[in-house]
Amino acid sequence: MDHFLYRQGALYAEDVPVAEIAAEVGTPFYCYSTATLTRHFRLFDEALSGMPHMICYAMKAASNQAILRVLADLGAGMDVVSGGEYARARAAGVPGEKIVFSGVGKTREEMRAALEGGIRQFNVESEPEMVALSEVAVALGLTAPITVRVNPDVDAKTHAKIATGKSENKFGIPIARAREVYAQAARLPGIRVVGIDVHIGSQLTELAPFRLAYAKVAELTEALRADGHKITRLDLGGGLGIPYTRSNEAPPLPMEYGAMIREELGHLGCEIEIEPGRLVAGNAGILVSRVIYLKSGEGREFLILDGAMNDLIRPAMYDAYHDIVPVIEPVAGSEQRAFDIVGPVCESGDTFAKGRMMPPLAEGDLVAFRSAGAYGAVMASEYNTRPLVPEVLVHEHQFAVIRPRPTFDEMINRDTIPEWL
Ligand SMILES: *Cc1c(COP(=O)(O)O)cnc(C)c1O
Repeated sequence: MDHFLYRQGALYAEDVPVAEIAAEVGTPFYCYSTATLTRHFRLFDEALSGMPHMICYAMKAASNQAILRVLADLGAGMDVVSGGEYARARAAGVPGEKIVFSGVGKTREEMRAALEGGIRQFNVESEPEMVALSEVAVALGLTAPITVRVNPDVDAKTHAKIATGKSENKFGIPIARAREVYAQAARLPGIRVVGIDVHIGSQLTELAPFRLAYAKVAELTEALRADGHKITRLDLGGGLGIPYTRSNEAPPLPMEYGAMIREELGHLGCEIEIEPGRLVAGNAGILVSRVIYLKSGEGREFLILDGAMNDLIRPAMYDAYHDIVPVIEPVAGSEQRAFDIVGPVCESGDTFAKGRMMPPLAEGDLVAFRSAGAYGAVMASEYNTRPLVPEVLVHEHQFAVIRPRPTFDEMINRDTIPEWL
């Protein structure tokens, strides 16, 4: 459930008509709902109740300061994957003790910044990284709390570009080698082992792959404890999928996910960490765009929008499906026609949907891409010198621009022409 609903024939974001925001901000823009963000965070919090737990929002899904602040105020920690994200989390008021640092390529500079600023743990993904982290920590007179990200070699049954838990993926260390790697960790002076980390992919629509992975983590926990390691924390990653269509596709609910975690891991007495991104932010955001032209081609009709692949790259990158709905509710029973829905960018890949059945639309009409809150604005670029898409946050009857659209001058003035030219 989200808070983007039709009321008296018009799409609302909470209590604000989307058309009103469009009139003030211009299009395209992203619009997020505070109530939906809040609701999704609380669902996870309730799903893990009764177990010591920490929800570290995977902020790469949507990392605007205002979004981070909403979640931080609810008690969320953050999962960061770069020094930039670490700085963003801190700037939004998240204390270091609530930040976990993931990613296969952490640099020494990033490690130093996080150690000095405070960190809950590093999720280490390789032995060279662990050695580097130990050296950086020792040089600072500190010890780095770590988990090792293990790769359980399970098929997440998701799109190849977002599967991370198979042995051929670059992520983590093979679970079969985990005991060896933990033994090395115990010998490194700058490292303190606190737990195990696993993250098998994104947009998972079944519980079974999670269950397989977590059963392997449970087994490993016992083995590592027998080896003398203190395993007090299990970071289970993110990845729970969301419904992108209104069809019968129904990913598991956070409650079911939580119950499964309790079954597989509850007996170990560990603190459970999860890192949801998509499920927190995905359905909490829409991308609003305007129809520029209706164009007839050879046997097909194009709906040309002012939003493009540089604003929302998921369809081009992951063959992703987004519901695209008119902001004025179509009258019941209105005739639908098939359109290729495209943006103005000079790439054939700038296609949001092919042969999509749409109700009647005309030049100037507004449409909304649903479920665009995660991996939307954060992946936007200024390709074709299109201004970086602005973001708006709604809270009940209020809305605020939380990232303004840059002007052409602002964009151009970021470049400098060398003196010698
Ligand atoms: C991307 C990522 C997540 C979040 O995945 P979602 O599918 O958005 O929930 C969590 N943990 C790690 C390590 C990630 O890379």
